Amino acid sequence: MFPVNYVRAKSLKHAVEQLAANPDAKLLAGGMTLLPTLKQRLARPSHLIDIGALRALRAIKRSRDKLSIGAGVRHYEVAASALVREAIPALAYLAGQIGDPQVRNLGTIGGSVANNDPAADYPAAVLGLAATILTNRRRIKAQDYFQGMFATALEDGEIITRIVFPLPKKAAYEKFRHPASGYAMTAVFVAVTGRGVRVAVTGAGPGVFRWTKAERALGKHLAPEAVEKLSVDAQAMNEDMHASREYRANLVNVMTRRAVAKL
Ligand SMILES: Cc1cc2nc3c(=O)[nH]c(=O)nc-3n(C[C@H](O)[C@H](O)[C@H](O)COP(=O)(O)OP(=O)(O)OC[C@H]3O[C@@H](n4cnc5c(N)ncnc54)[C@H](O)[C@@H]3O)c2cc1C
Repeated sequence: MFPVNYVRAKSLKHAVEQLAANPDAKLLAGGMTLLPTLKQRLARPSHLIDIGALRALRAIKRSRDKLSIGAGVRHYEVAASALVREAIPALAYLAGQIGDPQVRNLGTIGGSVANNDPAADYPAAVLGLAATILTNRRRIKAQDYFQGMFATALEDGEIITRIVFPLPKKAAYEKFRHPASGYAMTAVFVAVTGRGVRVAVTGAGPGVFRWTKAERALGKHLAPEAVEKLSVDAQAMNEDMHASREYRANLVNVMTRRAVAKL
């Protein structure tokens, strides 16, 4: 590591002030992505502004038709929350599938959504459920928020405060895990909402995306067979040492059918 100034934020206002006063500062939440990045010298912030202890970011609340999760809520808390399990069981299941117990005990939903790793789990639920990302400045719809690999609509100094999920009629998540990290080689979140079926795919392409062809087919016939003959463009998928484009494209179809069967 290299010398860095550590500031434990006392409030959201304090964190905002610290970011404004130090242009090269970075927020620190669970540190599960940021600390390895620092160790590898891929980032060299002047300050780490630790928001991990802010109670204001730790609430989970449910209203008649929405579930609100604070940015600082940890993955294990989402997985174990009775409110989440009752309101959107697929979201609790998804959180329980992230990484390993150590990662789930420290990693936060806000950190994951801010980071927008193309193989992360939460982006599939955020887009699949048409959630809204609330920051210290504004509300951002999921469709406008995700902008490709590690890219989001967040501006400098902007802090995610909570994520609000409309409650679906039903939803399911299926992931093909990388056996070492747990990250999604490909994973699919399917939600049946009052406005139709939504299918969001993570891990397969450069960023989370909706598979609209499958959404239309499932809107007519909500069964795994409805998507059996459909495919995504393999050339638009990611290829790396773990899987080819064609393999990931095939997984999109398989994971979608599994999620629909689970519904
Ligand atoms: C071994 C391992 C396995 C993993 N497996 C998975 C997996 O299977 N699935 C998966 O989805 N993820 C996985 N992860 C990533 C994990 O979920 C991280 O917790 C998550 O990506 C980042 O959350 P964090 O709270 O640790 O954020 P940090 O690492 O503290 O921060 C990440 C980035 O987000 C910014 N940030 C943090 N909070 C906010 C906020 N409220 N507003 C704005 N910006 C913010 C930070 O400045 C930083 O740039 C894995 C990580 C590890 C180390």
